[in-house]
Amino acid sequence: MERLRRFACLTKKGCSEIMEGLIPELGPHDVLIRNTACNICTTDYGQWLGLREHQGYPMVGGHEGCGVIEKTGEEVTTCAAGDFVGINVYKGCGTCAHCRKGEFSQCVNPPKLITEDGYLGEFGFATHAVWDEYSVIQMNPRLEPGCANFLEPLATVVKGLKKLRLAPFETVAVIGGGTMGMLNALEARALGTRVIVSELNPKKLETARKIGFETIDSGQKDPVKGIRELTGGKEADAVIVAVGAAQANEQAFEMVKNIDGRILQFAAGYPAPVTQIDWNSIHYRRLELIGTYGADAEDFTDAAMMLNTGIVDVSELVEPKRYPLTEMQKAFEAAATPGMYRVCVECQK
Ligand SMILES: [Zn+2]
Ligand SMILES: [Zn+2]
Repeated sequence: MERLRRFACLTKKGCSEIMEGLIPELGPHDVLIRNTACNICTTDYGQWLGLREHQGYPMVGGHEGCGVIEKTGEEVTTCAAGDFVGINVYKGCGTCAHCRKGEFSQCVNPPKLITEDGYLGEFGFATHAVWDEYSVIQMNPRLEPGCANFLEPLATVVKGLKKLRLAPFETVAVIGGGTMGMLNALEARALGTRVIVSELNPKKLETARKIGFETIDSGQKDPVKGIRELTGGKEADAVIVAVGAAQANEQAFEMVKNIDGRILQFAAGYPAPVTQIDWNSIHYRRLELIGTYGADAEDFTDAAMMLNTGIVDVSELVEPKRYPLTEMQKAFEAAATPGMYRVCVECQK
């Protein structure tokens, strides 16, 4: 019996339309997920704004979602109907050197996410999605759906912080108190560090304080000075750059400790930030400049554990107002408003 699903499709810049299409047939290792909710990522509303149009149309995006398994393919053994799950959205070819190590996010020949009827994307902004059982991650059903949706973004943070090698009692400066900055801050604190958040938006500063972080209002005070004051001149052992802006990169070089400091470049900026760096300083100061992007299988498992146990509580990072899928256009407008944390779309409404 053929069944239809409803989804929000980006047909061009600024234009999200509600459409219907067939639910694909399940392969032996596929599962049908009845999507509960999906958060709007910067990548999603960036394309809606016309900033990331290289992603293509027609786009049914949404990779920060959760749902309940409705049906499983004949040979599925690792999950069952009724399970509350999130998705590891990175798919690999399975055979390249990265895939063989489980690093699907770095696959050199990733399969294109495209349906038989020609729609691109992960189908988070849809009533139903089909994934294979290997992409399914078990989530705690007691988690509020808007919070369970943080699996993928937190996995990318976990990946970056493993590369940054934070040790307990270290001091970490996070530049940028947006969703990803705060997520980095929460995870860094969970690892036993002292976290100081630098931000200029008053709403974000207030949220950072509410969650219990030390803050620097970078609109009022030079954040480099702020870090020196708060650390008694010692500066930060590590700096996480969570804004895509040249000024943030320059600040990171100044606020990280003079010798053996580490800088994690977490954010991308559009257009790409360009700075002048004195490369001798990397040599003499023995600085480490660390880049990160994406997340791999183990990072998803670790991120799920952090969320499922409540060690990382992201409830302050979801906007309280929820949008039904049928009002996707309004949801995009809200998500693209400066100062917003994640906007959550309810997929069955
Ligand atoms: Zn995302
Ligand atoms: Zn591959």
